[in-house]
Amino acid sequence: MAEILDGKALAQKVRQEIKEIIAADPLLSARPPCLALLLVGDNEASTHYVALKAKMAAKVGINTREFALPAAVSESALVATIEELNNDPAVDAILLQLPLPAHINTPKMLMAISPKKDVDGFHPYNVGLLHMGLSGIQPCTPRGIMALLAEYKINVSGKRALVIGRSNIVGTPMAALLKRADATVTLAHSKSQNLRELIAEADIVVSAAGKAGLVHGSMLKSGAIVIDVGQNYGSDGTLCGDVDFISAEKKAAYITPVPGGVGPLTIAFLLKNALELRLGNDQEK
Ligand code: NAD
Repeated sequence: MAEILDGKALAQKVRQEIKEIIAADPLLSARPPCLALLLVGDNEASTHYVALKAKMAAKVGINTREFALPAAVSESALVATIEELNNDPAVDAILLQLPLPAHINTPKMLMAISPKKDVDGFHPYNVGLLHMGLSGIQPCTPRGIMALLAEYKINVSGKRALVIGRSNIVGTPMAALLKRADATVTLAHSKSQNLRELIAEADIVVSAAGKAGLVHGSMLKSGAIVIDVGQNYGSDGTLCGDVDFISAEKKAAYITPVPGGVGPLTIAFLLKNALELRLGNDQEK
């Protein structure tokens, strides 16, 4: 039976560390990190995530400012709001909740955010640093997964890692971080022909496809490390990952559950990024 990689416990530990760092530092306590949360439209899931991020930030002593813009907002009005926040010295970090309405060019908006306030690490400047192996702000979910592997002292060096999904938010930065940690990385996606073979060869499988039941235990190499990023909702509203947990747990050495695996780490590392941006911007003054 696989050992469970407890993302919930690590997230709690990371949040506690952030809280202690802020409380112990007179400068941070006097002027806590400030995270601006930008929500466009009234997408139910996005509204929920923004509220959750604000709530978790408050718990660790990070201030938030929420901006709710109408779904019909123009690109120029959104850019103007972002630029105002870029130029506001009281704001350390900016989060633009995705997805954006179809009439808005998402990459253009992400590029409008100052790389020095880019809490999600989605600006091409930070993406470039990540792919060059240089220090910079890293996307929260992959960062959290690397921290989870480190927490369980799982060395990825030399291992064959398969990342399923190539989005800019999860799959692509995940592959980059695993490569940086010296894994031999394969990046699979919806056009990949031989997913079963790739899964069978992998020592580490990170599934970020958003397809329930994509990875079954029978496909896995015995002793594999299985990270399930997927968040899929059944018709009854229950949450499940991409991996069939019951069968995979029997074959894997380590596995993340859904819920309680990767999900909680994403917000914890968002808060850590916000703190790091506050500290980094301070050093430059
Ligand atoms: P996305 O839709 O942008 O990307 C999905 C990727 O999966 C694409 O690259 C696509 O090519 C690939 N894919 C789809 N079907 C496939 C298949 N059958 N075989 C191989 N590859 C396939 O999604 P995303 O934003 O990267 O998110 C992926 C999943 O992770 C979603 O379920 C999302 O809800 C979840 N997610 C979870 C967290 C978290 O904190 N746990 C954070 C972000 C995303």
